[in-house]
Amino acid sequence: KQMNTFIIKGFMILFVSCVTIKLNLCSPNTPSFNTLPLDGHFNFHEVHHAARDFGNRYQFLPMAVLHPKTVSDIATTIKHIWDMGPRSELTVAARGHGHSLQGQAQTHRGVVINMESLKGPEIQVYTGSSPYVDVSGGELWINILHESLKYGLAPKSWTDYLHLTIGGTLSNAGISGQAFRHGPQISNVHQLEVVTGKGEVINCSEEQNEDLFHSVLGGLGQFGIITRARISLEAAPARVKWIRVLYSDFAAFTQDQEHLISAENTFDYVEGFVIINRTGLLNNWRSSFNSKDPVQASQFKSDGRTLFCLELAKYFNLDKTDLINEEVENLLSQLSYIRSTLFMSEVAYIDFLDRVHVSEIKLRSKDLWDVPHPWLNLLIPKSKIHTFADEVFGSILTATSNGPILIYPVNRSKWDNRTSVVIPEEHIFYLVAFLTSAVPSSTGTDGLEHILTQNKRILEFCETAHLGVKQYLPHYTTKKEWQAHFGPRWEAFVQRKSAYDPLAILAPGQRIFQKAI
Ligand code: FAD
Repeated sequence: KQMNTFIIKGFMILFVSCVTIKLNLCSPNTPSFNTLPLDGHFNFHEVHHAARDFGNRYQFLPMAVLHPKTVSDIATTIKHIWDMGPRSELTVAARGHGHSLQGQAQTHRGVVINMESLKGPEIQVYTGSSPYVDVSGGELWINILHESLKYGLAPKSWTDYLHLTIGGTLSNAGISGQAFRHGPQISNVHQLEVVTGKGEVINCSEEQNEDLFHSVLGGLGQFGIITRARISLEAAPARVKWIRVLYSDFAAFTQDQEHLISAENTFDYVEGFVIINRTGLLNNWRSSFNSKDPVQASQFKSDGRTLFCLELAKYFNLDKTDLINEEVENLLSQLSYIRSTLFMSEVAYIDFLDRVHVSEIKLRSKDLWDVPHPWLNLLIPKSKIHTFADEVFGSILTATSNGPILIYPVNRSKWDNRTSVVIPEEHIFYLVAFLTSAVPSSTGTDGLEHILTQNKRILEFCETAHLGVKQYLPHYTTKKEWQAHFGPRWEAFVQRKSAYDPLAILAPGQRIFQKAI
């Protein structure tokens, strides 16, 4: 009996000490974290903002937020967690501008690294025949634009919205209307400085540690934290001719888009969007856009039809105004849009690039910015875009769209298949982005549930019709779904994970790998 009591007591002591050890390892609010030699600091109290993102649907409260001042702060913190080994549950999420949609930059009870604190050292622009800029991974693209414009230069490839960080967009791809010509943003990077999941600081490029370089680009934050990047620049134009024309025939619309992204002499930016069931369309058109022929335009009736808007831009400098007018006219003459719907505007280059910010300010003033955003972004092979459009715009989404639906093609040849991003196999594929906003607590067609059901129907159709669609800014919850997303590239992705973040410390919000405990 005495022996039994002794054994039970022994087990209890062992159990209590195991729990204590684990709790100590799990909590960063311990002397071990507080005594780390950092230039920046941890905050264990004001952590709620790090549990939110633009999607406004997922909230995971972290244990602490690190505000790093130096790369060494990030490396020291990750190394510290790495040294705890697999028994600690702690994970680390780099947070750029927090514009993820489903908690990708969050961590449940882990450490969020507020990358915007790392903005310094300053943005450095290098002029010369192949200009570039060196920036922190937490820098916003809008700031890079402002700085590089001082030298008459600018990055070549953009996103539609510039208040996003370098690290955030390079972890995905960074796609906009310039991608058909320059590739996505991940095709315009020369060099990166990365902190891996082991806490090592590594410089990488095409020439040096090239596997890490390609892993990190489009790598969903899985292989390292981007602390610095060298981005390719080009001469910046002063002005932009910004054009919108309408089509009622989807085949004519896509034919013109595909022609424009394949032609030698073409526009600098090609996008497009779908307009579902809107009456009085032309009266609501952006006021800064002037119709080429206001009389004819006023007679145009959209009558609730689905229309397709081609959006184009041509860059120029003021000394070339006449030449550019001629060129634009010539390019437009090759297209088959509805003639009365030519709308043109001329704006400064910076106003064109920062155009979505204008909408942000308006939406914020009406309290419509911080609402749930159940966005769905798809990459669709060219050969399947008509099947997709017939079903989605002809059957699933006939009533309304709850936000813009972008649709435009890009050239696969401008993407590097050594990076981690997954794209369709064909030479041309389309980005189709359902940028929906839900009205909080609505149970109608503008409510979250309705929009999520629509998204599900779209995804199910893509699956059953075998369209070969890939999600952009992908979101899955099971390993099986991730495996299907990566397809034959899954094994390589897993191998890269075991090389650079073997304990699965980084970017847990993507829900691809789970830290082994
Ligand atoms: P976060 O949301 O903070 O982070 C995104 C992911 O990257 C997380 O997993 C995070 O852990 C990881 N991460 C963040 N920083 C780093 C780093 N330094 N190193 C490694 N990993 C890191 N995308 C396009 O391609 N084209 C568009 O036109 C476009 N328009 C958009 C418009 C709006 C209004 C919004 C809200 C988003 C848009 N996006 C677009 C999507 C956007 O590119 C991604 O959501 C991007 O991740 C947001 O950047 P962020 O700095 O907010 O990243």
